[in-house]
Amino acid sequence: MFVRIAVPVPALDLLTYGVPEGQPAPPVGARVVVPLGSRAVTGIVVDVSRDSSAPAGTDVKPLRQVLDTEPFIPSDVVELARWTAEYYAAGAGEAITAVLPPKTRGTRADAHKTARVVSVSAAGLDPELKVTARQREALDILRGAPDGIASGELARRGISADLVTRLLKAGLVQTRNDRVERDPFGSATSDLGPADSSRTLTLEQDQALTRLLALADTRVFRPALLHGVTGSGKTELYLRLSAAVRASGRRVLMLVPEIALTPQVAALFRQTFHERVAIQHSGLSDGERHDQWQRIRRGEVDVVVGTRSAVFTPLRDVGLIIVDEEHDGSYKQDESPRYNGRDVAVVRAQRAGALVVLGSATPSMETYAHAVSGKYDRIVLEKRVLERPLPAVTVVDMREEYAAEGPDVILSRALRDGIAARVDRGEQAMVLLNRRGYATAVFCRQCAGTIDCPNCSVSLVVHGEGVSRRARCHYCNYSARVPAACPTCKAPYLEQMGFGTERVEAQVVKQCPGARVARLDRDSTRRKGSLTALLARFRAKEIDVLVGTQMIAKGHDFPGVTLVGVISADVGLGMADFRASERTFQLLTQVAGRAGRGETAGEAIVQTIYPTHYSIQLACRQDYPSFFSHEMHFRSAMRYPPTVSLINVVVRAKSYANAMDDAAGIVRVLRELDPKLASYRVLGPAPAPLGKLRGEYRVQFLMKGSQRRRMREALVQTLGARPDIARRTVVDVDPLSVL
Ligand code: ADP
Ligand code: ZN
Repeated sequence: MFVRIAVPVPALDLLTYGVPEGQPAPPVGARVVVPLGSRAVTGIVVDVSRDSSAPAGTDVKPLRQVLDTEPFIPSDVVELARWTAEYYAAGAGEAITAVLPPKTRGTRADAHKTARVVSVSAAGLDPELKVTARQREALDILRGAPDGIASGELARRGISADLVTRLLKAGLVQTRNDRVERDPFGSATSDLGPADSSRTLTLEQDQALTRLLALADTRVFRPALLHGVTGSGKTELYLRLSAAVRASGRRVLMLVPEIALTPQVAALFRQTFHERVAIQHSGLSDGERHDQWQRIRRGEVDVVVGTRSAVFTPLRDVGLIIVDEEHDGSYKQDESPRYNGRDVAVVRAQRAGALVVLGSATPSMETYAHAVSGKYDRIVLEKRVLERPLPAVTVVDMREEYAAEGPDVILSRALRDGIAARVDRGEQAMVLLNRRGYATAVFCRQCAGTIDCPNCSVSLVVHGEGVSRRARCHYCNYSARVPAACPTCKAPYLEQMGFGTERVEAQVVKQCPGARVARLDRDSTRRKGSLTALLARFRAKEIDVLVGTQMIAKGHDFPGVTLVGVISADVGLGMADFRASERTFQLLTQVAGRAGRGETAGEAIVQTIYPTHYSIQLACRQDYPSFFSHEMHFRSAMRYPPTVSLINVVVRAKSYANAMDDAAGIVRVLRELDPKLASYRVLGPAPAPLGKLRGEYRVQFLMKGSQRRRMREALVQTLGARPDIARRTVVDVDPLSVL
C-alpha cells in the first residue's frame, strides 16, 4: 500500500511513501512523519492507493510514523487544498501549508499576561493644573476613562512611558497591575450596544431574507449574490441567516476582507453566538490563532469569522458560507498559492452542498456576470435602511480649481469649506487619497531626472517633513536621506512632486484650524493594535477628520461621518491595468458610502481632473448596472476577464537578457502546443511594468483564452520541463492585476 503525502515545503509536489507491511493505512487528513532527504518532516496524507507494487521507476521509502488514526485535517479540507494547488498551478506543499494550524510558538508565554493600567488620580482631575501641553493631552484622555487605560494602549495613542512616569511623580496619575485574558476580540466589542435581535427588518431586508432562507433550506449547493447598496443592512441579514442555519444543525463560515477593518462584524457575531464563534485572522498572535483553530477542529464552535485563509478552516458540516465585500482585492493571496478566497469559498460550498452568499455594494465583474447569466441567484437591496438617503455627490473639476487657486491646490474650496462646517457642527469627515507618503517623487529641474530605488524600477517616495525627511521605496523598503543636490547632474534644483496622505493630513491641519486630524494608512498603523486603537478613537469622536488610503473605505459604519472627500479620484485610472476602471468605481462608491450612515444625511465631494470619465460619473450616481454594462463592452472588446480567462506569468532573472531569453523560450513552447490558437493565445514576452524588483529583472507574458484548464496544463507541462526557470517564475491564475 502507498500513500501520497503533502509536506509543508514550498514548490514540492505530492510525495509517495510506502505503508509498512502489516500496518493499516492512515486515513486521508492524518499526520505522518516521513523521511525527506536527510530530514524527517511531518506531512498530511492526501491520497491512499491500495496498489501492491510501487509506481514504476520510483524508489519508495516507508513512512516513519503515523501520528493520527483519525483525520487531523477533515478530508474535505484536504481535498480543497488539493484543488487549490491544481487550479492555481501551485505546489501541493504550499497549498497544504494553508490548511495547517497556525504556528504554536509563544502559546504558553502570553497565556496569562498582566498589564499595567494607568488611571487619573484625584489631584489629576483638577482642570486648572499647570502642566505641559503633552501632559494635558494625556490627562484629558485619562479623564475620559475612569477605569484607567493599559499602558500599551496609551503608548499606541502616543503617550510615552516617560510621560506617564512624569505624571506619576507629580501625583497626577496612579497605576495598578491587571491580569488580562487572551481575548482575540480585543476592544472591538466594547463600543457597541447590545445586539438588537428585536429590530424590525425593512421590507426589502425581509424579502431578501426569505429568499436566502429558502435557498439555505434546500441543503444543496446554491451561489447567491447579495447586491446591497452601502448602508442597506447586509450585516443584519448575515446574522439572521447564520442563526437559522445554525438552528438547523449546520455550521457557518463568514469571510471578511480584513477583520481589523470590519471590527463590527466579528463583534456582532460574537454578541449573537457568544462562545460558539471563533475568529481567524493574521492580526491575532500565533497562540490565539492556534487556540481558536483547535476549538474549531474539536467541533466547539458553530460559526467561524475570518479572513481569506479561514476558507480552509477545519469546520465540519458547513451549511452556509458568507463572503462579505466579495469584490475586495484582499481575498487574493499575493504569494503562492495565489488563490482567491472568494472563489475557493464557492468551490467549498459546492462540495459541501452549502449556500454561499457573496455580498457587496460593488460586486466584482466576475460575480455580477454570473448573476446576469443566471448561474448565481441575485438578491438586491436598493435602499438604505430607515429611509436614509445615499450621499449627495458633488464632482469638483480640479482643472478649474487650479485655474482659480493656483497649481498647488490640494483641498478644493468646496472641500475646505465642507470640512470646516462639519468640524463646527461636531460632525466628522473622512478624506481619501489612495497614495501614501508626503511627496511621490523627487525631481531635478536641471536634468529632469528623479531619485530612483537602486533595486527597483520606481522612484522613491518622500516620507516626513523637514529634518526627519526620508525617501523610501514602497516595494523593497530601501530608504535614504533626501539629498540636497541631484545625484546625477549635481544641480541643487531638486523639487518634490506629487503628494500623498501625509501631505493631505498636513494641509487639513493647516487649512482647518481647530480640527483634530489623524491619518490612517499602512505607515500609521504598523504597530500591532494601532489600527484598532485609531478606529476606536475615531468612533469615540476624539478625531474630527480622518485622512487615509483605501483602508478608510472598507465596510466601516461610523454614524458621525457626514462628509467624505476624495482628493484625486483618478489616482488609479492612470494605471495600465485592465481593472483600473473597476477598481476606481468600487473605491469611489465604497468611500462615498461611508457618509450619512447616521441620523444626518451625508455628502461626498469628489475631486478629479477627469470629471467625465464613466467610472467617476457612474460611481457618483451609484449606478452599478450601467457601470457593469459599460465595462463589459470594454472587457469583451479587449478580451479581458470575465469574457476570457487570464494567466499572468512573470519570469525573474539576475539580468534582463536572461529573463527575456527564458521567457521567450517558454512562450515558444506554449505556442507550439496550440499552434491553431484553439484554446489560448500568448501575449508577450515583454518587460513587466515593474521591470526590476528587489534587484531582479522581470519579464512578463499573458495567456488569454476560453479554456482555463488547457491553458494551465500547457503551462505546467512546459515549466515542468524547465525546473531551473520554473523556480524563478511567478504564475498567477485569474490575476487581479497584471501590473
Ligand atoms: P451594509 O453592510 O449593507 O453597508 P450595515 O449592515 O452596516 O450596512 O447596516 C447599516 C446600518 O443600519 C447599521 O448601523 C445597522 O445597524 C443598521 N440597520 C441594519 N438593519 C436595520 C434595520 N432593519 N433597522 C434599523 N437599522 C438597521
Ligand atoms: Zn526598491
